[in-house]
Amino acid sequence: MKKPHLPLVDNDQAVHDMLASNSLGTFFGVSQKVLDQVWHELTAADGNSVTYVSMEIGAERDVFHPIKSRLERLEITDSTDPVLDQFIKKFLHGAEKLPNYSGGLGVLAGDTLKSFADSRIPALAITLLYRKGYFSQLVDSRLGQIAWTSEWRPEETPSLYLLRDPDHPDHPLVIEVPFSDGHDRNSVAHAQVWLKMEVNSTLDFFVPQILLDYSIPSSPEWIRAAADHLYDSSSERTKAIQRRLLGAGIVPVMEALGVTSKTIHLNEQHGVVVVLHLIARELFATVGPGYATLATDEDIIRAADKVAGRVVYTIHTPVKAGHDRFNRDLYAELGHAFCQRTLRLLARDKEQPQVYNFTELAMRVNRATNSVSRLHKEVTRNQFPEYAAKISAITNGVHHLTWISDAKAELYDSFAELKGWRDDPSAFANAKLLLASNRFRAYFEQAWQQDTRRLIDYVNGMLVEHRNQMQETWIDPPNYLSYLEEGERDLSPEALTIGFARRFSTYKRADLIFEDLDTLAKIIVQIGRPVNFIFAGKAHPADEPGKSLIKLLLDYQKDLYLKSNGLARLVFIPGYDMQIAKMMVAGVHAWLNNPKRPLEASGTSGMKAAMNGVPNISIMDGWWVEGYHEGKTGWKFGYEGPVDAESLSESPAALLYAEDSASFYNLFPEILTAFNEPALRDGYLDKCIMNLVLNCPIFNTHRMAAEYLDRYAITLDRKTAERIQRFRALYDSDPEFSARR
Ligand SMILES: *Cc1c(COP(=O)(O)O)cnc(C)c1O
Repeated sequence: MKKPHLPLVDNDQAVHDMLASNSLGTFFGVSQKVLDQVWHELTAADGNSVTYVSMEIGAERDVFHPIKSRLERLEITDSTDPVLDQFIKKFLHGAEKLPNYSGGLGVLAGDTLKSFADSRIPALAITLLYRKGYFSQLVDSRLGQIAWTSEWRPEETPSLYLLRDPDHPDHPLVIEVPFSDGHDRNSVAHAQVWLKMEVNSTLDFFVPQILLDYSIPSSPEWIRAAADHLYDSSSERTKAIQRRLLGAGIVPVMEALGVTSKTIHLNEQHGVVVVLHLIARELFATVGPGYATLATDEDIIRAADKVAGRVVYTIHTPVKAGHDRFNRDLYAELGHAFCQRTLRLLARDKEQPQVYNFTELAMRVNRATNSVSRLHKEVTRNQFPEYAAKISAITNGVHHLTWISDAKAELYDSFAELKGWRDDPSAFANAKLLLASNRFRAYFEQAWQQDTRRLIDYVNGMLVEHRNQMQETWIDPPNYLSYLEEGERDLSPEALTIGFARRFSTYKRADLIFEDLDTLAKIIVQIGRPVNFIFAGKAHPADEPGKSLIKLLLDYQKDLYLKSNGLARLVFIPGYDMQIAKMMVAGVHAWLNNPKRPLEASGTSGMKAAMNGVPNISIMDGWWVEGYHEGKTGWKFGYEGPVDAESLSESPAALLYAEDSASFYNLFPEILTAFNEPALRDGYLDKCIMNLVLNCPIFNTHRMAAEYLDRYAITLDRKTAERIQRFRALYDSDPEFSARR
């Protein structure tokens, strides 16, 4: 017998190639060559990169971890080199959580950076580091949501590095951010600088995420306090300070690192005060050091137009709470006189003369405004008619490598038709060839069952655990089922399992399908098959209506269970995060989305389900207007008529509960039957596979990033440009925009 030919992997060499350093620190995961190359592009004199600014970035290790995966694959557990050994241990066993995000906006940012890295787009991201994260969610059956603070330790988090000062290597790099202290004295905030690497799966490119950390003693106490929690809205002042900590930190940190990006991409308007900084710079150059008193209004406007050439802005929501407005008097305490003057010119609010409107500022000063779906483009144009011409659509996506479950990834890997799907999501279009493959259908069912079992085991375990912990925690289990006995209590993985998870805010209407419990229960009893409804999500601690939605759901549990003769089980999973999201989107049998049209600008959790072949049941809003294909990818229900100014209302009367829930009850028997009836099973599976065919190639961040490149002023080398062109060709979110170019 011939000896098997073993590939020559020298683990020692492989792991040494994962170490690199420069004057800012020593980093683990990429080779010296890769580090040097990425840094060279970011600091090139001609500025060929993009700086991406976001209030939150969600990229946790427990859902995507290329460096850890590499170590595991090579079975590397230690090294004789003490520096390497420490890194290896940290990456294999260190903290998984980086709770520096609240929801969809942050997860989108993280997914975007990962696709930038996969596509080798030279980019750098800037965000804030919140020592106390967002908040941790406990849920008590009587009290509803309880918010508590859990501190996390960036020092112990793999892939986070505290940068050192190149001029004083024993000290951390600290940037100065000018601030006003509210008493017309200038004070200075200081931030140390963390770097997190978003490394691609082949470990030969990365996008640095820069996190500004204002928690250091040289920052005034009131600054440190404002920087603790993401979206701290305990006062308007705190909120305004927090936005400034992001926006005013951008130019100083870019300069400290030597980053030369010409394009700055604002992910939402939170960091928009960076444009004030850039305008002042521009005036300094054109008018001179005395610009603050010498510049005329025309000078300021001219400078703003020049700065606009550098800014790309993505607006994410038509909902009012998503747009920052600050009282002028309050803001006068935080910024300098010249800053007030610029804001008076560029951040007028149409309705309230006494506030600055930061969405207006972002709308005004940019070269391209992106909405996040086709429908959202129409809505945004109606909201901001004076800027309509420059508003275009780039529909959101998700990072497919992050959101496809292990079981499904293994399945996709084992069919030659899908070859290359990891690098190029267009490969999923070939799933069409698998529609008729009984082998694929059988394996798909198997992989799906694995994912469902994982989710159901988690839920069943949680129900018992809550009950057992009750004595110590004094928390009443949030689920009625926790009080039932084994046998009665457990969810069955055979039952149609419907998932719903997202932030709890009014317009997402988490309670919609329970509007008429009697009708819902009757449908289930008539068909006589069990149903699991699995819900999760956090409400912002200051959002009372959002919190009351959680409480309402808990209150429905027992009634629904009893009225359906024990067939319907409604469960709430506390502590929604990316890991729970991943488990849910892959494990459920259908993903429910019922916002009030047109307030869900895009939505992304449904795309994560589609990546796993799970059909959506959704209102025709956001991405689903583009992802729904009649009879093929899932189901639609609810109002889908024209949208106008009136449709943006979130008042209870305008939320269409009666109309849309009735529409759901009309549809639901069909879905329940389609899932349970053996003769209809093939039709259900067809829908799963058609999600791979029609939706995976489109609703991914590789394609989205490629479309963003159209709006950026950067040029790519030939090889990269060709790769991007492949993704770009997958879809055109805005044919009208493309035709004009
Ligand atoms: C994907 C995701 C979201 C966003 O979901 P939407 O459907 O866009 O509301 C929010 N939170 C987490 C943890 C996610 O993974």
